[in-house]
Amino acid sequence: MKNDIIQLLPDHVANQIAAGEVVQRPSSVVKELVENAVDAGATTIQLICKDAGRSLIQVIDNGSGMSVTDVRMAFERHATSKIKTTQDIFTILTKGFRGEALASIAAVAQVEAKSRREFEELGTQLIIEGGEVRNQDPVVCPVGTSIAVKNLFYNVPARRNFLKSNQVELRHIQDEFQRIALAHENISFYLHHNDSEIYHLKAGNLKQRIQQIFGKKLGSQIISVEEDTEIVKISGFVGKPDAAKKSRSEQFFFVNNRFIRSPYLHNALCDAFDELLPAGYQPAYFMYLQLDPSRIDINIHPTKTEIKFEDEALIYTIIRAAVKHALGQFNITPSLDFEQDPNWAFIPSASDDKEIKMPEITVDSSFNPFSNDNHYRAPKPSAINSTMDFYNDAVELEIENNHAHQVFESNFEQTHQLFESEVGQQEKLNVIQWHNKYLIVEYRGELLIIDQHRAHQKILFEKFIHSKRDNALVQQMLFPIELDLSPNDRQKLINVESQLLSFGFDISLDEESIQINAIPVDVQQEDVVSIFMDFIDELEFKESLELDNSFAKILAKNSAVKKGTSLKEEQARTLVEELFKLPNPNYSPYGRPIFVQMNTTEVEKILQ
Ligand code: ADP
Ligand code: MG
Repeated sequence: MKNDIIQLLPDHVANQIAAGEVVQRPSSVVKELVENAVDAGATTIQLICKDAGRSLIQVIDNGSGMSVTDVRMAFERHATSKIKTTQDIFTILTKGFRGEALASIAAVAQVEAKSRREFEELGTQLIIEGGEVRNQDPVVCPVGTSIAVKNLFYNVPARRNFLKSNQVELRHIQDEFQRIALAHENISFYLHHNDSEIYHLKAGNLKQRIQQIFGKKLGSQIISVEEDTEIVKISGFVGKPDAAKKSRSEQFFFVNNRFIRSPYLHNALCDAFDELLPAGYQPAYFMYLQLDPSRIDINIHPTKTEIKFEDEALIYTIIRAAVKHALGQFNITPSLDFEQDPNWAFIPSASDDKEIKMPEITVDSSFNPFSNDNHYRAPKPSAINSTMDFYNDAVELEIENNHAHQVFESNFEQTHQLFESEVGQQEKLNVIQWHNKYLIVEYRGELLIIDQHRAHQKILFEKFIHSKRDNALVQQMLFPIELDLSPNDRQKLINVESQLLSFGFDISLDEESIQINAIPVDVQQEDVVSIFMDFIDELEFKESLELDNSFAKILAKNSAVKKGTSLKEEQARTLVEELFKLPNPNYSPYGRPIFVQMNTTEVEKILQ
């Protein structure tokens, strides 16, 4: 007979496994430590990082501090001072409550903690490595707590290898830091990285905090939103339409001072802006919701950035109305009748069960990238609608891109050859512009309808990629173009300065802004600001190695002739000819089909 084989895991092994959930990267440590400092009632919190948190993450606070026993207890799993009974979970207002953060962090790093309470002469120093306590001593230290986390994942090489570049990891750290700083404007926060100061945020009001983080310009472009209802109290700011960007980096929701993601509430916001923003532009918002903790469930996600509301649909309506109201008060929306908004009418009756439809995700399930009859019913990125968009356009486009190459290569090799022979023989193409959007060309009984914007995008993309290689041609600006950016966004551009230069953008920097002194010849001056906004967006999570491609795409997208632009016959013809000189004219750099093609058989089928 076999022996029994089940045994309990030793604590340090259990902690290491649990750590996988809590500590994914340096920014997770930052989040947990800074939140603990907030929970401890600190009024000043200092974050010090080295090598994007790989070698050091230290948080120093002037909060309550811990007793000798508590310092030791704090690193035990399920050790928390924040809840005592299960009932407490439903009324929780602190950031933490699971009591696993410190234990998890200590399991995968070398930790040095110092803490002292007021009225105690000496503090306690505790040194833990890989979850094992090495040392505990009395120490002279200021009131409050300092926790230094060194060599994160030193004992978990797999995790360490999984980390991205310092630039990306630092971005994540700054994001977490920003989110907490925006939720606690009455606390002073500092962030130092490799001996340089990135943020120096003095306690103040919310508007000042937003301004400190995102720059003075945005500070002058935001208007306040206030709404107090039975279920939820809403406050915060939204950017006026002219503050809108093609970037989502200025969109924040907080629930009971905790940052959350909610594509659903994001839609409520966008809905309120309705027609006020041009396509592709994102409103800036900093929205703070206060509601009874028992009406939300914050425990549905281990990193706690997602949340479930009991009255989700109602909250959607309230947010939308409140924002519309704020915009209306500032005379930004022309015809706004707040009182008569039909949705507003049912808000006071919190018990009303009326439902608002959740955004749907519709996917074209019949689409098969490998089927041959897809060639004029190309994959539609727009089929995956707004909720998904919120998450990641980029991912979606990558997928589209892959489809693009597989489906169309064989199909258009033929078209390509047809054009080559014919155009080569100097025969003038007959091109008709349709609705200032499409170019229609007939060839040997085949009909092509070409998207002019995407065609030009493709041509320019190839041009930018090549001119980069062979030295970009630039135009000097008579007056440099100035960009007013948040320190954060400025840093992103500084990191890729040489790459920008290789494309033909010559930039120089001062304290608050960035000046653009020269731009590539194929770029129009009026497109420069939106190009840079797109760059900044792209830099959010991209590694520099992938950037050449991304930058060229952005340049092409912004500089290509727009839909709705009327083209002269000659211009239209050149566009078509240049397109078909390219080795692969089928798809735009973003993976969208550039044209549809039909033969008479197909037309006859339709006309049957
Ligand atoms: P949680 O925050 O979920 O309670 P943690 O593992 O993050 O769990 O922290 C465990 C306990 O350690 C906390 O409940 C708190 O009592 C104490 N603690 C952690 N950090 C600090 C700090 N900076 N100041 C004072 N006490 C702290
Ligand atoms: Mg905690």
